Parts: sequence; structure tokens; C-alpha cells
Amino acid sequence: MKAQYRILGQLKKLDEKLYRLNFELEKIPVEIAKIEAVLATNKAEFAAHKNNFETHEKTMRKAEMDLREKEDFIKKAEGKMMECKTNEEYKAAQKEIDGFKEQKGNLEETVLLSMNGLEVHRTQLKTAETTFKEQDALVNKDKKEYDTLRQKLVNSYEEQEQQKEGIVIQLSPDIAALYKRVSAINKGIAICITENFGCLGCNIKIRPQLFNEILGAKAVHRCPSCGRILITSAAEIDENPMAEVQL
Ligand SMILES: [Zn+2]
Repeated sequence: MKAQYRILGQLKKLDEKLYRLNFELEKIPVEIAKIEAVLATNKAEFAAHKNNFETHEKTMRKAEMDLREKEDFIKKAEGKMMECKTNEEYKAAQKEIDGFKEQKGNLEETVLLSMNGLEVHRTQLKTAETTFKEQDALVNKDKKEYDTLRQKLVNSYEEQEQQKEGIVIQLSPDIAALYKRVSAINKGIAICITENFGCLGCNIKIRPQLFNEILGAKAVHRCPSCGRILITSAAEIDENPMAEVQL
């Protein structure tokens, strides 16, 4: 039974390693989601600035077109001035030209303001684009690193699993079955240390008789509270097969 306890001790260590490896593996997609969320924000900002810039540019082009049109009107109206037969017609034509000139002045102001505004939007767009591109490159680099890490962790996990299989078959069939059953319902953590009449897994006190049986490696017991298999820390530390002789 002491040998069985020693095997359980080895399994406990492996289970803890597997648990930690799994924990690290599960963290990876969460971390990737975080950096992708930041990237999505940068992308949305870039798209918004692009849209702003394009809308502003369209407004400016429209104002420029209106201005040219107005200049044409003025030119044509001025050309027709000489064709006026009466003073009334002449005055009316002059009034129309004055109106066009006023509109032209307003449009010139609009174009000028639009040009200045467009420059501001262009700068903002450039900054947003640079930020997005930098972030995109960073995210791709990070993802590659996470991929490498994931592969390393998976390899390590599989290695430990294989090692575990080799150890489980050393258990007696009934203890192996118990171990598998308890492991399945406890997220892979089937074994706990008992110390000073207590289970270190759930901190409950156990009966002295039970504790002594575990201490003396008389039988394999489960914690009456958390249901995990209890071993002493001595079984966990003892990895030397020759140590059984000394026990
Ligand atoms: Zn317990």
C-alpha cells in the first residue's frame, strides 16, 4: 500500500502540473481577445476618420464646383451687359451680377474654410491610420508568440499526460478506478494532502482514525467532505523508488 501511496503522490504532482498547464492554455484566447478588442477600436477610429475626411472632401469639391459655376455666371452676365437696350435692363443686369459676386465671395470663404478643415481631417486620418497599422502589426506579432507558446504548452501537456498514463497503470485496478472517478468529478484534481488531521483541499478536520490509517498507509481514503483521495505530504515528496525500503 505504501507503493500505491507513492504512486498517488506522483500523480498529484502531475495533476497539478497539468492543471497549471491547462490554466495557462485557457488564458491564451482571453489575452488574444483583449488585444483584438483594442485593435477593433483602432480600426473603428480609423474608419470614422476616413469617413469624416471623405465627407469633408466631398463638401469642399462641391463648394469648388459651385464657385466655378458662379464665376461662369458672372462672366456670362458681364458679357451680356453690353447688349442691354435700356438703362433699366442695365441696372437689373448689374444687380444680378452684384448678387452673383456676393454669392461668389461666400463660396470662396467656404472653400477656404473647407481647405483648412480638410487639412485637420487629413492629419487626424494619418494619425489614426498609423496607430491602426502599428497596432495591427503588434497584434500579429503577439498572436504568433501566443501560437508558439500554445504549441509549447500543448506539447508539455501531452508529455505529462503520457507520463501520467504510465503511472496510473501502476496503481491497483480498484485504486486506479477510484482515482479516475474522483479525477473526473474534481476537474482533474483527485488527490489532496492531509496534515494535522485536516484536508488541505477543503480544510475540514478528519477523524483521527482515518488520519492514522492514511499516515500508516493502511488503506486509501477519501476526504469525507470534498471526496478527494487523501495522502500525506511524505508520499508526495517521496519520488525515489528505493525510498520504500526506508519507509
Ligand atoms: Zn477535503
